[in-house]
Amino acid sequence: MSDSASDVVIAGAGPYGLSTAAYLNTFGIDVRIIGEPMRFWDANMPVGMFLKSEPFASSLGSPQPGMRFTDRHPGWRLGQPIPLDTFVEYGRWFAAETVPATDDAQVVTVERARPSGYVVTLSTGETIATRTVVVAVGVGPFAHVPGELAGMPSSLVSHSSAHRDLTVFAGKEVAVLGAGQSALETAVLLADAGAHPHLIARRAEIDWNVVPKERRPLRKRLLGGPRSGLGTGYRTWLWAERPGIVRHLPEETRRRIVRETLPPAGAWWLRSRLDDRVRVSTGHHLVKAIEDGDAIALTTVDRTGRRVVTEAEHVIAATGYVPDVARLDLLAADLRARVSTRVGAPVLTRDFESSSSGLYFAGLAAAHTFGPVMRFVHGADFAARRIAHHIIRRTRPMRTPTGRLNEAMEPDRTHS
Ligand SMILES: Cc1cc2nc3c(=O)[nH]c(=O)nc-3n(C[C@H](O)[C@H](O)[C@H](O)COP(=O)(O)OP(=O)(O)OC[C@H]3O[C@@H](n4cnc5c(N)ncnc54)[C@H](O)[C@@H]3O)c2cc1C
Repeated sequence: MSDSASDVVIAGAGPYGLSTAAYLNTFGIDVRIIGEPMRFWDANMPVGMFLKSEPFASSLGSPQPGMRFTDRHPGWRLGQPIPLDTFVEYGRWFAAETVPATDDAQVVTVERARPSGYVVTLSTGETIATRTVVVAVGVGPFAHVPGELAGMPSSLVSHSSAHRDLTVFAGKEVAVLGAGQSALETAVLLADAGAHPHLIARRAEIDWNVVPKERRPLRKRLLGGPRSGLGTGYRTWLWAERPGIVRHLPEETRRRIVRETLPPAGAWWLRSRLDDRVRVSTGHHLVKAIEDGDAIALTTVDRTGRRVVTEAEHVIAATGYVPDVARLDLLAADLRARVSTRVGAPVLTRDFESSSSGLYFAGLAAAHTFGPVMRFVHGADFAARRIAHHIIRRTRPMRTPTGRLNEAMEPDRTHS
């Protein structure tokens, strides 16, 4: 017997989980959302960080008007980076306004129940019986560390998501692996904290995004394409604003789009802060790492084939996140085995449902199906709307007094 029951349980209270809860809650579905709101942003991103996404592309999704980031902060302009604290505060305000209660716990396991549905066990020991589970655990479980660093003690090697406070590295030699925004910003914040960062990147050079322009002449708009939540360009606009289309593309194309849309690059506002306090080695491939007492020796191969050994007191792998259902320990082993996957990612229907009926995936895990926007906050409204609509249709059709399906929840047929 379970301790309680709920129509829907959402694991994770980040932008995707909160947006889904907001839609479900507005339409009267009994939903439990498990997790402290915006915990990953608050605990696993470095103090002093700014968002790379523009204000108009940093909103959680809700059918209620007035809930966008720019509603909360009307004066925030294009090109004005959002500090991490401001975004966490926005997410928590959104949660307080749209979701009646969140459970400050963790989902420990999701198991299949007989004859149908799921039993969700929380870190508090409570068990919840439900027909529907939305896995919205974000990027954290998918942190990727290069194989060369596997098995190293955490005193020597960590993933960038392990750090909120970089001042613990003051005075230390720290190697940062990667060439994306996370690597570049970690290196700069390490320098600000009095550490000696050495950025090591495979890419031949560091790429930087350009300053977005509030107004663009018509000719530039026609040639360069419209602005979207992922940047400018016709194709970029499609992937950002019509992610339902991506699902119909061949798998190889989808993978390429996810890889190539917004490739590793630094935000324009970070460029001047990456000064001579940060040593930068580009074109270096890591081939070996050896523990050397209190330090670590990294062997890299540069563009000329020369082997270079670098000593560091700590290595931070800012090497991203790779979705892989096999790493989702919260799903019981037999449930994981029932979820069909392609290259580790769950195969999803147009409504984000997996091959296990009633089990949905939102966020990064859905990028293989719906494309690059699922890696960003901007995709949360689309995902939440689709998931909630499907759950509502299954749970109880919503009728207005005129007998019509409520408009805000009409299926989004144009973007399928
Ligand atoms: C350093 C960094 C900077 C970024 N900057 C941007 C940016 O500027 N703009 C942008 O659009 N995107 C940015 N991203 C991507 C960002 O992570 C995603 O856009 C966004 O967080 C996706 O929301 P989510 O709800 O899927 O995941 P998350 O925000 O990660 O939320 C998932 C939540 O689930 C919780 N959780 C995990 N496991 C469990 C469990 N078992 N039980 C209960 N809860 C659990 C986590 O603690 C977390 O709070 C950035 C990512 C990183 C790492």
